[in-house]
Amino acid sequence: MDFKDQFKFEPRYGILICKSCAFAVAPLHLRAHIAKGHAVAACYAISLDSARATSKAKEKAAALLADSLNADYRLPDPTSVTIPIPLPTDPPLPELTLHQGYQCAQCDLVVTKTVENQLRLQKHFNKHHRSVPRKRGRQSKIADIPAMEKLPMTQDVFCQRFFVAGAQSSFFAVYVPPQKSAREIPGQDAAICQAWVQEQLAKDSLEREVREKRYSSQVSKTEILPWLEKTRWPRYFHGLNVADVAPLAYAANPITEPALVLLGESFDRLIERAYQSICEDKISVFDQARINSFNADGPGEHDRMIIVKLLKSTSRAHKGIWKRLLCFVYRTSQLNQSTPLLHIFTEAQLFHLGQAVCLAKKLSSL
Ligand SMILES: [Zn+2]
Ligand SMILES: [Zn+2]
Repeated sequence: MDFKDQFKFEPRYGILICKSCAFAVAPLHLRAHIAKGHAVAACYAISLDSARATSKAKEKAAALLADSLNADYRLPDPTSVTIPIPLPTDPPLPELTLHQGYQCAQCDLVVTKTVENQLRLQKHFNKHHRSVPRKRGRQSKIADIPAMEKLPMTQDVFCQRFFVAGAQSSFFAVYVPPQKSAREIPGQDAAICQAWVQEQLAKDSLEREVREKRYSSQVSKTEILPWLEKTRWPRYFHGLNVADVAPLAYAANPITEPALVLLGESFDRLIERAYQSICEDKISVFDQARINSFNADGPGEHDRMIIVKLLKSTSRAHKGIWKRLLCFVYRTSQLNQSTPLLHIFTEAQLFHLGQAVCLAKKLSSL
């Protein structure tokens, strides 16, 4: 794949979006962005062996590609030119990260959904949109608050931004149609689907955020496995009885769960095919780095490609864990499962999971 295909030019706004980072890069930052985040791919694009290239050679490769992109699109500089933003009725730009956010009820200020930002927005509202700023504590009874100012200060929105730092990096609201049923989600629009799932999961997220903060401050002193902390499994299982949870992740039982065994075998074949594709150079370096990152919003500062040359035993162990995770997912989707866990399935997930197991059952009865 051509290196330039990793960037999407949006003529309506005059911005260039780095697809793997899911944000726009200003023309003056393009060289540094490629050098910092995509040096390996840049070297690859000009047939340079990145493992042997000096840092100077890598910078040169990045500069070459950045200059070529700049020449192609003549991007406006956001520090001096005002870039139009989408209307609040416009759908999200599929290449940009979609966030949940709050918008000030009285102006265009949009922030992402966190406890800190909610407080920030309330302060902003108090300062800019109240004729009589509210004081801390109880409001005086005689204060004559205009009716308009009694309305909610913020509203929930979906939002995006072009740039992640510097000029014109503010969030703007976009329109995501409300999803009454998961089946209405168009399959191809993964970003909307993802945001919708997050919204479902975040119904009590503010409360959970506070709880997690308390939890992480408790564990930070004793946690010896930073990787485990990064995966957030300890947080997920906090307060649960291990003896109840562990059987949910046992390997599939061939006698009582033949369908799960079949699903596991299908998973093995899938991995085998993916392995072949990587060995045959069918997956671009960008995609490999993207697949290799579990950080959905993060730009790949240290993009690494997937390591596929594993020892047989390591590969078997990894696949075993994945298959047990699949078993865990299936078992926790069952109604008779009584351990209170923190995840919720969307209708679409339940539907597809049910369909997969139904097909496997049919297959195993043949
Ligand atoms: Zn990038
Ligand atoms: Zn405002």
